[in-house]
Amino acid sequence: MRLLIVEDEKRLALSLARGLTAEGYAVDVVHDGREGLHQASEGTYDLVILDIMLPGLNGYRVCAALRAAGHEVPILMLTAKDGEYDEAEGLDTGADDYLTKPFSYVVLVARIKALLRRRGAGASPVHVHGDLKVDTAARRVFLGEDEVSLTTKEFSVLEQLVLRAGEVVSKSEILEHVWDFAYEGDPNIVEVYISTLRRKLRPGLIRTVRGAGYRLEASP
Ligand code: CA
Repeated sequence: MRLLIVEDEKRLALSLARGLTAEGYAVDVVHDGREGLHQASEGTYDLVILDIMLPGLNGYRVCAALRAAGHEVPILMLTAKDGEYDEAEGLDTGADDYLTKPFSYVVLVARIKALLRRRGAGASPVHVHGDLKVDTAARRVFLGEDEVSLTTKEFSVLEQLVLRAGEVVSKSEILEHVWDFAYEGDPNIVEVYISTLRRKLRPGLIRTVRGAGYRLEASP
């Protein structure tokens, strides 16, 4: 899951990014409203955390512009406590939820998880494919009765395949959702993770579709 943080308070943005990265999300940060709008329009984000008071373009306008352009990415707005800006106005412009500063990090993570789940149209966070069971809320993986221990990145790669089980997922789609835009390394890193997942899970579980990507196969 890839998140965009649009927040001009750099220390706050950085600490949020660190925390959310540790939770296993790929996180990009921009500090300006205009850049945020550009990035949210171009990127493939699963969720946008959007401050209201921003240089360039304020959060309401970023949100309204994204919705006007047809982007349905979930938006969590960060509002100031002084009440200068109205939370209702944030929701009117198309935000999905809001959080008043200062907020607890635990609450932020809970809201993010809830929004990501809601986006799955009430879908269960537990995905079962044959003997493979992936709980995307608890971030746990089971093969039959046995729990398989994965690193956060390994889990994130598997999650992309599980969310689209039976479909071909390209290497660049996996890169976009699992690595942040600061990643400038070799895109073949995805292959390394796929081979680790095959070793930890089962060799035939993830098929390579030559020239197209990877597909998660349900076991017979
Ligand atoms: Ca601000």
